[in-house]
Amino acid sequence: MNERYSRQILFKPISHVGQEKISKKHALILGVGALGTHTAEMLVRAGIGKLTLIDRDYVEASNLQRQNLFTEKDAAEKLPKAAAAKERLHAVNSDVDIVAIVGHADAVMLENIAPNLDLLIDGTDNFDTRFLLNDIAQKYRIPYLFGSCLGSFGMSFTIIPGTTPCLQCLLKRLPLQGQTCDTAGIIAPTVQMVTAHQGAEALKILSGNIEAVRKTYVSFDLWENDYLSLKTNALKDEACPSCGSAPTFPFLERDAGLKVAVLCGRDTVQIRPANHESLSLEQLADQWRSAGYEVGANPFLVSVQKDGLRAVFFKDGRALIHGMKDPDQARKIYYSLVG
Ligand SMILES: [Zn+2]
Repeated sequence: MNERYSRQILFKPISHVGQEKISKKHALILGVGALGTHTAEMLVRAGIGKLTLIDRDYVEASNLQRQNLFTEKDAAEKLPKAAAAKERLHAVNSDVDIVAIVGHADAVMLENIAPNLDLLIDGTDNFDTRFLLNDIAQKYRIPYLFGSCLGSFGMSFTIIPGTTPCLQCLLKRLPLQGQTCDTAGIIAPTVQMVTAHQGAEALKILSGNIEAVRKTYVSFDLWENDYLSLKTNALKDEACPSCGSAPTFPFLERDAGLKVAVLCGRDTVQIRPANHESLSLEQLADQWRSAGYEVGANPFLVSVQKDGLRAVFFKDGRALIHGMKDPDQARKIYYSLVG
């Protein structure tokens, strides 16, 4: 063990004591895409004790530009990302106990795993799941590493329950929502910068150096050469439903995630998001137009169409995805449109 991790042990804040702690810790990475593959590889190489990976998607050719654990073979075989990642990670470090869950993470699944976790790491691409993770973090007092990226823009924030503001608090003040990779594109260095932050924070927490954790929200644009580091103490809201003095954990209560229903005889799937308050139809319509979609609107809904895809979004947050009966496929299209 000492030879394998010797360089990390030589790093004084970690040393033998920290390495020993890392080897006994269990982290969850939710979403094994761009962010998730990078943080997973870092933690497995660093000698974490146990890593649980959850992902509902499979590997496609368009992932290979930035999702570092996957190969052409994984894409050709359409391997689930969690399973493909586990295989590669096991080859990197066979001492690590890696659990791969191929599926849609909901409140029930996460509450079952949560009591055994030391750290939650954000590898997701949507805010419904992030708010769910945020509530899990608060309810079970688990540190949560938020991260997000698109284009050349990335952001990262470390949430320590009882100390820092939570994601709900942060979102009220900062414009976190935006386009998804599918409409805006992304370059790999953005991913690496976000995961460099997440990885460093993970090592601090897992090695018992909690006092070294960054106290600021950080964002950057690698193309525009902009860096922002923001103090967040003032953002903590005592009335916050997730981290305030009388928390209700709304996203666990609502079972979070999306409510998906296949509409009989209509070849259509209906999707209801848990957090439709944050959905701006005007903003979405603008994004879709600039991404080359055909967009139509009336006072009640916005329709979007491109390459055989047809969907309608209502003001109450509901979406109808047409031309299919498969809930998983419809969910994927929904997230690619909304983020
Ligand atoms: Zn909060």
